[in-house]
Amino acid sequence: MAGQNLILQSLSAGDLGLLEPHLKPVDLRQQKVLYEAGDAVNLVYFPYTAVVSLVVSLSTGEMIEAAMVGRDGVVAASAAMDGKVSLSRAIVQIGGTGMTCAPDILKKAALQSETFHSLLMRHEQTVYAQAQQSAACNATHTVETRLARWLLRARDLSQNDTLPFTQEFLGEMLGVRRTSVSLVAHTLQQAGMIKYSRGRIQIVNLEALTDTACECYGTIRKHYASLARRQIDPVDFDAVRVLQHEFVNARRRPAEEPSRCSDGPDRHSRKASPTSLLSFTKTG
Ligand SMILES: [Zn+2]
Repeated sequence: MAGQNLILQSLSAGDLGLLEPHLKPVDLRQQKVLYEAGDAVNLVYFPYTAVVSLVVSLSTGEMIEAAMVGRDGVVAASAAMDGKVSLSRAIVQIGGTGMTCAPDILKKAALQSETFHSLLMRHEQTVYAQAQQSAACNATHTVETRLARWLLRARDLSQNDTLPFTQEFLGEMLGVRRTSVSLVAHTLQQAGMIKYSRGRIQIVNLEALTDTACECYGTIRKHYASLARRQIDPVDFDAVRVLQHEFVNARRRPAEEPSRCSDGPDRHSRKASPTSLLSFTKTG
């Protein structure tokens, strides 16, 4: 039942046993508001395919995303542990599935298990680090590199190259005007990185988009890899297969072709995205 949520997957059988009888499946539709800031927390969410944005709303009606939580995290864990009040607005940015449990169940499990409590604390630190990175990113990096970062993180969490976003929504998440998003999306499309149609963005050149994204994409990804060191992303499984395939081919090559064999390490270190993604897990 741990399914596709990497936090649940990383639990020991004992820790999972504390939660599993109480987990219930949930479908979350896009743009559903799970909590407003100050709301009582009635459910804790472990997203599978759904992706949730934690946003800060301003009195002027504007809002800006502080963190994005999906299958590598849990929504409202800190509120469940103490106070049971959400400190930010949580809105579903990509509809999908997940699991829920009552906040009291999460708290009880954390009080019973030191390892689970420790994991939750590290998770909250990771969300905090993501929020800090977002603040630095919004103040420093260009809209183009921020949009690339944002699309890549949404892709990682939804595991889908096609993302259902309007320019208005992207503008709200990035804290910029819709016209700025429109301009930048056009630039990325002209460069062959994405295809944009009404309310839908398709990533068509992952490597180029990764090169365009600001450093914050890699930094946040590294934080989450550290959080659950035992987790191996399906993307990384692909990378492992690529490396295994190349290793087997290198071994099959005749001994009289040393120059081709010596190409191996260089080809492994090229900027192919699966390999670079693997390196996050290795170094995280
Ligand atoms: Zn950045």
